[in-house]
Amino acid sequence: MRTYFICPAPPCPNGKLHLGHIGGVYLPADIFVRFQRMAGHRAYYITGSDEHGTYTLETARKLGRSFSEVAEGYVHKILECLRAVQITPDVFVRTSSAIHKGNALAIFRELQAAGYVDVRQGVQLYCEHCDEFAADSLATGRCPACSSPCDSNLCENCGLALQHDTIRDARHVTCGCNLVLRPITQAVFDMPRLAHSLHEAIGESVWPEPIRAKARAWLLREVRGLPMTRHFRHGVEVKQPDSLIGQTLLTWFEGLWCFDTGIREQCARRRSGRKRGVARPEHRDSFLHGAG
Ligand SMILES: [Zn+2]
Ligand SMILES: [Zn+2]
Repeated sequence: MRTYFICPAPPCPNGKLHLGHIGGVYLPADIFVRFQRMAGHRAYYITGSDEHGTYTLETARKLGRSFSEVAEGYVHKILECLRAVQITPDVFVRTSSAIHKGNALAIFRELQAAGYVDVRQGVQLYCEHCDEFAADSLATGRCPACSSPCDSNLCENCGLALQHDTIRDARHVTCGCNLVLRPITQAVFDMPRLAHSLHEAIGESVWPEPIRAKARAWLLREVRGLPMTRHFRHGVEVKQPDSLIGQTLLTWFEGLWCFDTGIREQCARRRSGRKRGVARPEHRDSFLHGAG
């Protein structure tokens, strides 16, 4: 008997799910879970909601409502959409839940202690008109590599992870004004330190060659290291060192640990079920509550 954790990417609570979400992501994952169970294996469906994205803030500003109210409302709508097509995750991790925030911060601290996190001088886009820092989708511009329209996080056309000082014609989505660069102190993941091991892992993976080539190209490009924190109010707050207080973890790093939070939760339930001699409730919807 094998154990599978099937972890489709958590949606951002800035709208309902549409057919593309269901057909492209959540239904294929559900079919795989059901198939493995029918074949006699253990299979757990783990997903959640990615609640610290700037998309939710954009929607909240458009609707004139609070961030947590919008996130809360759409999380319930997302769960309703999944239930409507009879998809019931074993664990649904809200990234705003205390359990996930604690887990993501513990992993960040572990990396800090192991020397993978540098604290460096960097820059972040800033709107002088609104007097606030811009993050992710709150800034738009053109990609330095392919000139396509992009946000300040990722170029959807060529897949480049963007550094704020390389984006051309950066503007604030909220007001349309040009953005400037402000110096900040930020945590940076020391990618070059891990490059050799990652290179070997890519070589040993079962990925198709074009994907391996893409991953190697990303690795070569990230010689400066990847920023891990920034000024944005909604997220997992960094507690130390003092120079990082007031910043939150970037969602590329924080959000992905929702799978780890979910897998830990599932394993803990199985262990406690076994101790008490209670059978695992099959395919039961469960929900780690958000802190708002
Ligand atoms: Zn602005
Ligand atoms: Zn591009």
